[in-house]
Amino acid sequence: MLARTVILLIIVSQLGCAPAKNAPVKPLAFTSFPVLEYHLIGRPEGRWQRTPENFRADLEWLQANNYYPLNLRDILDGFGAVPAGKRPVVLTFDDSSAGQFRYLPDGKLDPESAVGMLKAFHDRYPADWPLRGTFFVLMETSSPDRNLFGQPESVAKKLRQLTEWGMELGCHTYSHDRLDRVSPAAAKRSLDRSLAVLAKFSGRPIVSLSLPLGKFPTDRTVIERFKLVAEVAGGMNPVNYDPLQVKRIQAMDSEWQRFFKRAAK
Ligand SMILES: [Zn+2]
Repeated sequence: MLARTVILLIIVSQLGCAPAKNAPVKPLAFTSFPVLEYHLIGRPEGRWQRTPENFRADLEWLQANNYYPLNLRDILDGFGAVPAGKRPVVLTFDDSSAGQFRYLPDGKLDPESAVGMLKAFHDRYPADWPLRGTFFVLMETSSPDRNLFGQPESVAKKLRQLTEWGMELGCHTYSHDRLDRVSPAAAKRSLDRSLAVLAKFSGRPIVSLSLPLGKFPTDRTVIERFKLVAEVAGGMNPVNYDPLQVKRIQAMDSEWQRFFKRAAK
């Protein structure tokens, strides 16, 4: 009886010590973190478009408020990369439009594309702002501007560079397919085709998925291969977030005010 009680006590005490899923190893100075969501970068400002001026102002504001950028996949490591005194932010970009990553006719990186601005900002603050960002790319849609950043001659170069420069490639299906409206077999095929393209250019496994329109497939086993699934809205994530339902915040003025208490311009 005594032996059984001791064994029971050991089991209970071990259960009590087991870390919760995704629990950070050391105490964190923050309790939540934002995952920002960008679509088009260009003019004018709109529901789905951020101007270059506003994008630069977003980076300035985040840096001034002690945010530190991570790729989405980096949050799987329990925020260990975030320096003391900083708090994490993830910048994500959906739909791979040219405004996110463009080369000019002379071969130079467009300084008003998101990647151009991220690089310039990193050059200004190399220690405080590493080159991070997660790009959820599309391969083939009816809008050529959104197919792998819209410049067919530069596809391989861009996808390789994003990886080499420290950023992350993520899956957004092959053709922006609504996973709730296609059969599980068709959903799987769309993801397979997307991953085949991304795997060719990324030296790393693809672990992140952004759901088109935030719609889950009817058969969730289809997306089991991903470690992180990003939704389209939801606000801040707690540090013990659900990796298969990562909430995001659209980077638009009303959302900055609502979730960051950032003053209106
Ligand atoms: Zn999308």
